[in-house]
Amino acid sequence: MSEKQIDRFVPDEELNKQKEIANKVRELLGTIYPQGYTPCAFVHSYGCQQNVSDGEKIKGILHSMGYQMTDSPENADFVMYNTCAVREHAEQRVFGNVGALKNIKRRRPNMLIGVCGCMSQQESVAKRLKSSFPFVDIVLGTHVMHKLPEIVYTKLTSGKRVFDISGEDGVIAEGLPILRDGTSKAWIPIMYGCNNFCSYCIVPYVRGRERSRKSCDIIREVKEVVAAGCKEITLLGQNVNSYGKENGEISFPELLYKLNELDGDFRIRFMTSHPKDATHELIDAMASCDKVCKHLHLPVQSGSNRILEKMNRKYTVETYLEKIRYAREKMPEISFTSDIIVGFPNEQDEDFEATLSLIKEVGYDLLYTFIYSKRPGTPAAEMIDEITDERKGERFRTLLAVQEEIAYKKLSDMKGKIFKALCEGEGRVLENSLCGRADNNVMVEFENTGKQKIGEFVNVKITSSKGYVCLGEAL
Ligand code: SF4
Repeated sequence: MSEKQIDRFVPDEELNKQKEIANKVRELLGTIYPQGYTPCAFVHSYGCQQNVSDGEKIKGILHSMGYQMTDSPENADFVMYNTCAVREHAEQRVFGNVGALKNIKRRRPNMLIGVCGCMSQQESVAKRLKSSFPFVDIVLGTHVMHKLPEIVYTKLTSGKRVFDISGEDGVIAEGLPILRDGTSKAWIPIMYGCNNFCSYCIVPYVRGRERSRKSCDIIREVKEVVAAGCKEITLLGQNVNSYGKENGEISFPELLYKLNELDGDFRIRFMTSHPKDATHELIDAMASCDKVCKHLHLPVQSGSNRILEKMNRKYTVETYLEKIRYAREKMPEISFTSDIIVGFPNEQDEDFEATLSLIKEVGYDLLYTFIYSKRPGTPAAEMIDEITDERKGERFRTLLAVQEEIAYKKLSDMKGKIFKALCEGEGRVLENSLCGRADNNVMVEFENTGKQKIGEFVNVKITSSKGYVCLGEAL
């Protein structure tokens, strides 16, 4: 590893220093609040699973400082909004939710309010929070999360607001405390940041360059969660297929083989795979690893090569479809999901038609569809766009209708087959039912006969479907 790569790991001395400061915060809180009272923290994460995973670390750090978690900002002594910058609408929602805390803080003057995550990493947002939201105490960017104890300590001892959005390339902090949202599923980041600079995307600017965790640290974490009863791990990264490329670690397919060899009854998912880097080796690894779910989320974004080039996606419809064909050949049962952006600047009718034709050809089980959202600072934000919002809305509705038909057909094809699902909780469609995701990522519901347990695998024979849910009998 080069010196720069080693620099990316936060040194143990720094992490130990933060642990000591967390203890000091705990003592301080004991002097602020009455004896016997445990202060509460409310942490809300917006956006992607990477953010949810960061949120679990923020909860872990706050817990190490003496806070217990609450599920309402009304009861909280500390509110932290872990924000997302991918879409404008989500940003506006954050400003609205932060603004609503003003009145709560009036009633609870000791309350601390923090904003972190991708939005706050942007200088313009940090400035707006500073000038227009004087009741926000703490703003931290994506590269300094491990310093949360020091930041809180400074706020508590100085009374001054603390803003820290330092760092650009990003770091890796191992061994931070984690308070996971559940025990049967675990998010495990394997890498952070992105080098791809898709022209519409803000992520590389707010999360820094690609950096991979050491495989030994990932394997250790997976062993820990599996020993604690976890049945499903999801490996996370903005582009998991780039894992290990910058630091000479093993490749992503090699990591899958290693994790697959670990003892335990658990399954492996991963997201997100950039199509340009989804290789035959990856597909071969998926096919041979019995713990890896036969589901591939492969975001295509558009079915038009002209738009893909403007998006700087670095693949074509033809190379994308070749990968889909290869994966189907190796795993006939595989399911595909994808992301589509409708209304990228100057998307013409023929571009949109090409997208419709691609989704029909692939036959996705599920699509995550978005209308293009302009992100200041990205190249796409400067592109000329003559397409009206109305036209974009029409295309969006057409896309949903076409996909709905495809998805219903896919669900009805599951009828009569048996799928292994991880029981997650109560069903929403049937009375007295339980639900869980099948290996292929489809939600299934089945009658609760009292024999199935939440957090355990259940084999379900599919009998029918309703909306996007398959209904069946637990065997
Ligand atoms: S691969 Fe593209 S869309 Fe995904 S995070 Fe990186 S820049 Fe954004």
